[in-house]
Amino acid sequence: MDKRSLKLRYYGDPILRQKAAPVQTVTPEIRDVIGAMFDCMYRERGIGLAAPQVGIAQRIFVVDVEKESGERSKYALVNPVMKETAGSIVGEEGCLSIPGIHADVKRHADVVFEALDEHGGLVVVRAEGLLARALQHELDHLDGVLFIDRLSPIRRKLLESKLARMQFGEAGKAASTASASPSF
Ligand code: ZN
Repeated sequence: MDKRSLKLRYYGDPILRQKAAPVQTVTPEIRDVIGAMFDCMYRERGIGLAAPQVGIAQRIFVVDVEKESGERSKYALVNPVMKETAGSIVGEEGCLSIPGIHADVKRHADVVFEALDEHGGLVVVRAEGLLARALQHELDHLDGVLFIDRLSPIRRKLLESKLARMQFGEAGKAASTASASPSF
């Protein structure tokens, strides 16, 4: 695989509905994949990206979220597990794989994630705000779940024709994300 050519997969691509497999060992090849995923995420102006979104069915995602303080939370997580959750909060989300659609999604407000980092070491991430939202959105991707699955039936219904058009490959390029809300 030429990792420089990682391409985004769009809604309708079956890999987005697969449950991704755990990574057995964090090898140099996995580190290459992670590097290429960060490149792809920045290129697409996302704040998070999961491996299935670039055609790799493994439990890896990257996030780079800027806090209000300007401080950045940048992580590559391998085999992530959500260990603790508290509270709930509604906020707008978009997805790089479902361009042009943004909607309010209810998520846990505070989360604690455990994972391996890009060197295979254990990492614990305590998150709130946008980072917590990004982590949950990406974890969903590893289980084949998309943010539109978490919308109310009415909201989902309203999006159906738009989604049906995407299902047949009209996604992407044309639908530049004009919204200021984050995509991951
Ligand atoms: Zn997404």
